[in-house]
Amino acid sequence: MTYNLTEDQETLRKTIGRFANEKVSPLAEEIEHSGDYPDELIGMMNELGIMGLPYEEKYGGGGADLLTMSIAMEELAKVCANTAMVPITQELGAMPIVVMGNEEQKEKYLSKIATGEYRIAFALTEPDAGSDVASMKSTAVRDGDNYILNGAKRFISYADVADVFSFFAKTDISQGNNGISSFIVERNTPGITIGKKENKMGFKGFSSCEVFFDNVVVPKANLLGEEGDGFKIAMETLDKTRPLVAICGVGLAQGALDYAIDYSKTRTQFGKPISRFQGLQWMMADMAMQIEASRQLVYKAATVVDRNETKSSMLGAMSKCFATDVAMKVTTDALQIVGGSGYMKEYPTERYFRQAKLLQIVEGTNQIQRVVIAGQLLK
Ligand SMILES: Cc1cc2nc3c(=O)[nH]c(=O)nc-3n(C[C@H](O)[C@H](O)[C@H](O)COP(=O)(O)OP(=O)(O)OC[C@H]3O[C@@H](n4cnc5c(N)ncnc54)[C@H](O)[C@@H]3O)c2cc1C
Repeated sequence: MTYNLTEDQETLRKTIGRFANEKVSPLAEEIEHSGDYPDELIGMMNELGIMGLPYEEKYGGGGADLLTMSIAMEELAKVCANTAMVPITQELGAMPIVVMGNEEQKEKYLSKIATGEYRIAFALTEPDAGSDVASMKSTAVRDGDNYILNGAKRFISYADVADVFSFFAKTDISQGNNGISSFIVERNTPGITIGKKENKMGFKGFSSCEVFFDNVVVPKANLLGEEGDGFKIAMETLDKTRPLVAICGVGLAQGALDYAIDYSKTRTQFGKPISRFQGLQWMMADMAMQIEASRQLVYKAATVVDRNETKSSMLGAMSKCFATDVAMKVTTDALQIVGGSGYMKEYPTERYFRQAKLLQIVEGTNQIQRVVIAGQLLK
């Protein structure tokens, strides 16, 4: 399948690319090191419709499909992956409502998420339940028309700025996957505490926090689907959002390669620009090939998700695993091309390299992606 992007998609790519280069790029280094993401840029992304891009128009969103969203996110990730992570993580948090919310829930929450009024975080991971989601210990106990939630979550992106959480807990602790349920929980509900903000290796532009739920009372109306649907909701969410982590890897890798190419033309050793050395030229050719292969796989995965085809789980996992492994390899090679300077914090190659590492871990490690792919192959 070839991907001929529509005129609208090309226009969007150019618009987001211009915004990324003019407004985001000058702040990328500061965002990475300061540990905070500027509200001002989020305001601009809201105005440009980037935050609302993937949500249905009836909720005030842009109605973009996953392929279009991917095209837009690559442009942001090329210059500042922290910025791409703002709408990507927002979509991760919102996706449980998109896939399983009833009309009332969608109207109430998606309309505020699409317009940027609400930030939402996805609260699945726990200290003892990372890859093994079914071993989660958080509980949800029915009490009349309410549920009482208890538990501890960790590594939750943007938890400290979230207005709402997609929260997962066991309604039946005797069950594994089938005992998990999913809830929409408003941040201002009594009993929620934000714990430690992690000191990360990279991607400091977004926060990762512990969140504690201590006898948090939510109305039954905030249960997504039925009791026991939580695992299915989480997996369907990840199937639909993994291509976005993948495209973030493509953007990072492309940004790193572009930088390395420019640098190689200006750095002189042995009396000529280092770009003239065939050893580096072949590295660059390999990097470009791997990036293009990643991009095409992400486009394919996004298209399969957009068409609701049965292979979306496998292709989502393939795209995430392949593109983020490529991002790690390409950013390592880009740093190598820039030499000793590439290792210094003044040079973006150091940032790209640290950021690529995280993409191999989040939304399921790349080992887990291989588990998903093999599971589908052997079904
Ligand atoms: C910065 C950051 C942001 C995050 N944001 C969020 C968020 O917003 N919301 C959220 O819910 N979670 C979030 N996470 C959690 C993330 O999804 C988990 O870290 C990830 O799923 C891995 O879980 P773990 O860290 O507990 O590792 P573990 O599951 O303990 O894995 C440790 C190692 O064992 C390997 N392993 C485990 N099981 C298998 C297996 N069956 N076969 C082969 N190898 C295996 C893993 O691949 C890994 O190498 C975030 C994590 C980070 C670091």
